[in-house]
Amino acid sequence: MKKGDCIFCKIAGGEIPSKTLYEDESFRVILDLGPATKGHALILPKEHAKDIYELPQETASEVFVLAKKMAVRMVEKLHCDGLNVVQNNGEAAGQTVPHFHIHLIPRYQNDGQIINWTPGKPSQEELEAVRVLISE
Ligand code: 5GP
Ligand code: ZN
Repeated sequence: MKKGDCIFCKIAGGEIPSKTLYEDESFRVILDLGPATKGHALILPKEHAKDIYELPQETASEVFVLAKKMAVRMVEKLHCDGLNVVQNNGEAAGQTVPHFHIHLIPRYQNDGQIINWTPGKPSQEELEAVRVLISE
């Protein structure tokens, strides 16, 4: 996708208005239009990168620092009981907008939302095979 066609580029650049919580030279943090919970926010880098694989190293190192700052502020202001940090890459992982973003999802006791998976039961051999595959 070209930058000109990307909705998150337009939002991050201010071309399309958004409920902005924070902005600096490199990032804009906005409220999600389809929030999982009250305060669900998205961190958008201003420079287009489709996903974590394309994200420049410098942006990658800055974005989690910002995620931490926003998380602390959101917990203080919203008095939520917890907070999920979620980041999807690729359709198979649930990414619907192909511009890298981090979800900050405040959680409230009994909010009814589920961010979950079914735990597998791999053998030690299967775990070892995956360890070797990734680490070597
Ligand atoms: P993904 O599924 O790609 O990880 O997340 C995309 C998120 O962007 C969804 O939670 C969706 O509600 C949100 N979203 C999609 N379009 C817009 C938009 O135009 N404005 C805002 N603020 N959020 C959007
Ligand atoms: Zn973009």
